[in-house]
Amino acid sequence: MRKYCEQCGKETETKVVSKRESYNVCGELIEVDAQVLVCSECGEEFFCEELDNATLVSAYNEYRRKHKLLLPEEIRKIREQYGLSQRSFAKLLNWGDKTICRYENGSIQDKAHNSILLFLREPENMRTYLTENEVALDEKQIRRILKTIEKLEENKEFRAGHRIFNLFFSNVPCEENGFKGFDYDKFCAMVLFFAHTSGELLKTKLMKLLNYSDMLFYKENGISISGMKYVHFPYGPVPDNFEILLGKMQADHIAHIEITCDNGYEKHQIIPERDIPLDEFSEEELKVLQRVYDKFAHFGSVEISEYSHKEKGYTSTKPGEIISYAYAKEIELDK
Ligand SMILES: [Zn+2]
Repeated sequence: MRKYCEQCGKETETKVVSKRESYNVCGELIEVDAQVLVCSECGEEFFCEELDNATLVSAYNEYRRKHKLLLPEEIRKIREQYGLSQRSFAKLLNWGDKTICRYENGSIQDKAHNSILLFLREPENMRTYLTENEVALDEKQIRRILKTIEKLEENKEFRAGHRIFNLFFSNVPCEENGFKGFDYDKFCAMVLFFAHTSGELLKTKLMKLLNYSDMLFYKENGISISGMKYVHFPYGPVPDNFEILLGKMQADHIAHIEITCDNGYEKHQIIPERDIPLDEFSEEELKVLQRVYDKFAHFGSVEISEYSHKEKGYTSTKPGEIISYAYAKEIELDK
């Protein structure tokens, strides 16, 4: 940008330089790195409204950081998470009509106000505030906020559950998961496919069917279907942390286990609770699932266990070890 420089007495090129500046914020001197427009020949400073405003904002933010005050953006988020307008939020807090509006637009809030806002950031605290306080909102509005709080708390639990889930199931593709991050939806779809296709499906057989499907697909395509890791167990390969998955599938109403007694033996039967989400699968994936199903259709749990015990991946690993997809090349389903 060219500007007329008084100092040079002519129009010159300008540039932006960084400079340490002090600002008075609420009676306190705050130092910030200011961006200033100067004449590129003599260094004379020009007034530039945008840069000046930006510096002022960063001085205010520096002051907030120093005194641990919420940023305007954070105040807006607290209000919005409860679905409140600036005016209703101020009313709820018994503050002046424009107070929230001013804070969100950059005015520095006083300490007492900041503490209340910080407290109300937690939905649980907002519930206490609403129910154990005389609040200047009508009944209908209060009920609506309480409902929003319920939803927020559900989401929080959901996110916490999700974090735990991610601890157990890796999202990073590697040889142990068939070069695919674990895909819960796909895994559930596979379980539903086998549960619906088989008349009666026992847990032990399901684990083998899943293992063969992932391994065979990997052998032919270089990637697994579900991204599941399989572990060497006494009775064959088993999906890693299978019990956690079954618990989650039951909680999500996808499928559950029904235990019945059969001649003194416990039978763990898979009961599907949803239809097969066919659009989860590619054509190739479906074909592999169907081939695996057909191959073992008349195998009982014991027979399929014995069959899988002969696989190279199983004989080459010790109990408790992950069976790498590298062994998939040895699988011969059609022999
Ligand atoms: Zn100049």
